[in-house]
Amino acid sequence: MTTTLFASPAWPTVPVKGETAQYPVHRIFCVGRNYAAHAAEMGVEVDREAPFYFTKSALMTQATDTTIPYPPGTENFHYEMELVIAIGAPVFRADLAQAREAIFGFACGLDMTRRDLQLAARATQRPWDLGKDVEQSAVFAPITKADEVAAIGPQRIHLEVNGATKQDAHLSDLIWKVEEIVSHLSGYYHLAPGDFIMTGTPAGVGAVVAGDVITGGIDGLDPVKLTIGAAE
Ligand code: MN
Repeated sequence: MTTTLFASPAWPTVPVKGETAQYPVHRIFCVGRNYAAHAAEMGVEVDREAPFYFTKSALMTQATDTTIPYPPGTENFHYEMELVIAIGAPVFRADLAQAREAIFGFACGLDMTRRDLQLAARATQRPWDLGKDVEQSAVFAPITKADEVAAIGPQRIHLEVNGATKQDAHLSDLIWKVEEIVSHLSGYYHLAPGDFIMTGTPAGVGAVVAGDVITGGIDGLDPVKLTIGAAE
């Protein structure tokens, strides 16, 4: 057995409704601009040729119903409410039917973002990592298994800050549907159990400050909640 110079962290895990075993998170893929109204508010046109992606380290996983410190290096820390896909089977170069079969379940998630750094990177054609791969920024509610979730489409997706509604849309507004995303992404990666895909956020993104409480929901799924604490 290999010995290591220091202890490695365990994979972060997310609870699954109806299971005692948890789902270990290995990778987090995120889809950009997957709701037309959000793309418009970000001042960009939707590219209907193909979805695009960025990633967050699995180590950025944060449990729902927790408090995180306001992160360093930003003055414009944003919430993004998202539908999250959890992959449940190995899938590579999948067609739409194979993609659908590979989906283990769905969860509510928050893609917390240093918007000022993301936009500065975008303007200078640099990578988004400082804006997106933020510590404690991938917040996941428990997963609901796919066979317990109604066909994706009519469900309302919404987010509130301190009880005031900020994002309010429907999953039918997704430009790239869940099986289209899994199929497309599987053309570039050997997707496998442990892979999460955050499917993008609707319009209405905005900043939070220390003391704010974020709540988000999607019909039929467990809600997500995050409190913003003081900066360290
Ligand atoms: Mn996002």
